[in-house]
Amino acid sequence: METTVIIGASHGGVQVAASLREMNYSGRIILAAEEPHLPYHRPPLSKALLDPAQPDGLMLRPSAFYEQKDITLRLGKRVDAIDLDKHVVRFGSEEAIGFDHLVLATGARARIPQIEGINLRNVLTLRTLPDAKSLAASLTDAQDVVVLGAGMIGLEFAAVAARTGRRTTVIDATSRPLLRGLSPEMAQHLQQMHEANGVRFIFDDGITAIEGNEAVTAVMTKSGQRINADLVLVAVGVVPNVELAVAAGIEADNGIVVDTHLQTSHEGIYAIGDCAAFPANGGNRLRIESVQNATDHARTVAASIVGKRQPFNKVPWFWSDQYDAKLQIAGLWNGYDQAILRPSGNDGSFAYYLFANDKLLCVEAINAPGDHVAARKILSDGLDLRPEHLADPRFDPKLFMRQQPSHS
Ligand SMILES: Cc1cc2nc3c(=O)[nH]c(=O)nc-3n(C[C@H](O)[C@H](O)[C@H](O)COP(=O)(O)OP(=O)(O)OC[C@H]3O[C@@H](n4cnc5c(N)ncnc54)[C@H](O)[C@@H]3O)c2cc1C
Repeated sequence: METTVIIGASHGGVQVAASLREMNYSGRIILAAEEPHLPYHRPPLSKALLDPAQPDGLMLRPSAFYEQKDITLRLGKRVDAIDLDKHVVRFGSEEAIGFDHLVLATGARARIPQIEGINLRNVLTLRTLPDAKSLAASLTDAQDVVVLGAGMIGLEFAAVAARTGRRTTVIDATSRPLLRGLSPEMAQHLQQMHEANGVRFIFDDGITAIEGNEAVTAVMTKSGQRINADLVLVAVGVVPNVELAVAAGIEADNGIVVDTHLQTSHEGIYAIGDCAAFPANGGNRLRIESVQNATDHARTVAASIVGKRQPFNKVPWFWSDQYDAKLQIAGLWNGYDQAILRPSGNDGSFAYYLFANDKLLCVEAINAPGDHVAARKILSDGLDLRPEHLADPRFDPKLFMRQQPSHS
């Protein structure tokens, strides 16, 4: 019987298995999960910072799902090697499983900078369920929280810390929050929202040392500031897990290199989600860290495995929850030359529409789900939304979406 092995059982890997069965794949599916618990949702780990007593609500699928769908979930099993010649994956020295199709969904891990004091107690990263439990436990007694990195995870955690009354400082080496993920316009809005909640930002600076005796007591910055801290979250990005692939001879370059069908340099071997560098934007390779990207990649690969090959061409979208703001982004903002602000209601909700040469690139919305949903459709169908449409105060994105013929 044909076998598909999936390495990594998170948003991407679990979705490949689920999609294969939805597409009536009748072969064996082996889902190798290095982590010992049932696969879970990562986004809640940095938001309503998880209640350590209730991890159950985080499960991606109930345990019965894997049984019913005849998906062999190998919990706590790390794949140590891939033998491309023999078409087997190895779990340690004892066990090898042959495959016809192999999907690398190995994701990413938190980047840990080499700073003096990085191993002190209460200096933490946030990627996994145990990380979130440690962070939640440390937060209970913390007064002075320092977040290193003003990216999405850093800011989400800063919101939790500030909202629960901790003195919270965010330090970033760049000049503004979310330099990679968000336009300067929307980033400024988020910064102001955090500042209104008491968060202090230090930009163009970094941490040179973490002080403490067993547990952290302070951080020293490059510019010479000493900031009290009894909890430090290090949230300076991730490193894609490519080592297994590279050791097997699969090409990688800031992510496992794949083509438009998400196939690696080897036929029948795919990479998806956070670990995959795929062609987009006219050929430039992108690695996107989002649930939507991982799950859409998964569906594309499942289709290839069942013989319905199609190129990956989905519009990226992302969300983040901070305080009472739901930020939703459709598209990618880089390269825009015009940002048009559209108030969405009387409750302060709004969206930025970002254009390049009058072509819509991205919509960043706060508490404006109508704009977000319409933006996804407008972008994916190639509808001709122009800056002039937004000049009309009666502009309704949902109406526009329904009335326009598709250009794609
Ligand atoms: C705290 C947090 C909050 C987030 N919030 C959001 C959000 O609000 N919205 C959003 O869209 N995205 C969010 N993300 C990002 C999102 O979670 C990731 O993009 C997504 O998890 C990527 O899924 P993945 O399957 O590619 O990889 P991962 O989730 O990284 O999973 C990879 C899995 O592979 C396993 N693995 C690796 N190597 C092996 C091996 N050799 N053998 C067996 N198993 C292996 C790992 O242990 C891991 O479980 C958040 C991420 C974090 C950490």
